[in-house]
Amino acid sequence: MTMEYNWNCGVCDHTNSKGTDICLNCNSSAFLSSGNIEKRKAMFINGNLIDDRNDKSFKAVAYEVKFTLWATKVSHGENEVARRFGQRFWYFGIIVVIISFLFALVLFTEDAAHRFFIQIFSLVPCFDVRSFCMGKTTYIDHIGTPAIRKNLVIRWFGVFLDLCAWYILLTI
Ligand SMILES: [Zn+2]
Repeated sequence: MTMEYNWNCGVCDHTNSKGTDICLNCNSSAFLSSGNIEKRKAMFINGNLIDDRNDKSFKAVAYEVKFTLWATKVSHGENEVARRFGQRFWYFGIIVVIISFLFALVLFTEDAAHRFFIQIFSLVPCFDVRSFCMGKTTYIDHIGTPAIRKNLVIRWFGVFLDLCAWYILLTI
C-alpha cells in the first residue's frame, strides 16, 4: 500500500515522494485521521518517537482509502478498464437485441416476437451501465445522478440494479 503521488506529512510537513506511505522524516503513516495528526504533532514537538511502520490499523485505513479512490474513479469515468468495459457492454447489448430481432424474423412466431419486444427494453439499463462507466449522468426512474463524489454509493447501487434489470429482461 503506497501513495501514488508526492505527499506532505501532516505531522512534520516533510515532503515525501510517491511510492511510500510512511514519512521518511518522522515515521508517521500517510493515512492518519485529523485527530491522530494533532496528537502526533504534539508528540513530535515534544521529541517523542513515532513509528507507524508496523501498525496494521493504518494498513486497513490505507486499503479503505484506496478502494474508495478506485470506486470514485470508476464512477467518474476515469478508469480506462471500466470505460472500455462500459463501451463494449453497450455494443454487446445492442448485438443481443439484433440477434433477438433476427430470430423473431426467421421463426416468425408470436413467442419470438414477444421476446424481441421485451428485450428492446434491455437497452435502457444497458445504456445506463455505459453512462456509469463513462462518468456520465445515470438514471434511476428519471431521477438523474451526475458523477459527483456524494453520489458515489447511489451510482454504484444504480449500476447494480441496471445489471439485474438487464439480465432479467434478457432471460425472462
Ligand atoms: Zn513526517
